[in-house]
Amino acid sequence: MRAEDTPFPFYTSNLLSVPHGLFCCAGGTSDAPFASLNLSHSVGDHPDRVRINRERANDALGLRHLIAVKQIHADQILQAEPAHIGTEQEGYDAIISTLPGTGVLIQQADCQAVLLWAPQHHVVAAIHCGWRGSVLNIIGKTVRCLSEQYDVPAESLRAVISPSLGPCCAEFINYRTELPTWMHAYQIRPFFFDFWAISRHQLISVGVQPDHIETANMCTCCDQRFFSYRRATKSAQGITGRNGSIIGLPASTAVLSPGPQTRDAAQKVKSQIKGA
Ligand SMILES: [Zn+2]
Repeated sequence: MRAEDTPFPFYTSNLLSVPHGLFCCAGGTSDAPFASLNLSHSVGDHPDRVRINRERANDALGLRHLIAVKQIHADQILQAEPAHIGTEQEGYDAIISTLPGTGVLIQQADCQAVLLWAPQHHVVAAIHCGWRGSVLNIIGKTVRCLSEQYDVPAESLRAVISPSLGPCCAEFINYRTELPTWMHAYQIRPFFFDFWAISRHQLISVGVQPDHIETANMCTCCDQRFFSYRRATKSAQGITGRNGSIIGLPASTAVLSPGPQTRDAAQKVKSQIKGA
């Protein structure tokens, strides 16, 4: 994981050769309790500030457009189309995109963003994964969707797990009823779970190569550079901003080998960019 040396702090991974960023909470325009790079419209922040914050993050990556979703801790996957640009479709927790120059955004404060890139396949994905998403295996479902509908072999995927709640802070008092039995093996001390390792296990279980996975290993609750819902519950009734994780294909990417379901979308993008 590499800290970009700019006034606008964010992290990148050497595994991903497309524009992407794991953003910290600094560098934006929002006031407390959303100070300052809050990227969520769903937490009570002023919409204009969120809009500017999103533009800043996207601009920092050289991306022109952005697609976000209203995340609900479920397992539905949005297959992005040009019509989704600038919208916030409700009820999705993963986004798959073949659109050049378009970032897909995951908003999280302790949950994970898992960014995926398939070299040679002109497709990226971003997953919002909290413990409910882990239980539903949204990671495995997204990898399978990429494989079945975009012809992406899982072994070719690169995966990055964002700063998120670490094993130091992921306490689950009710784990016996909330987490399936297989996850209990990831209890590192009484009631504390390693969800970084759980996500890694879920990626490997569907065929992602272990050396193609990077975990940020930064706990958002411990590290004050990130928004943290758990930290905010102790001081601000849980009201806080959302960190952003963005990945997108560069604007200039040629369509290399679109899968059967992506050809129409690629054509649409070409005509949309011509008209832009
Ligand atoms: Zn921690």
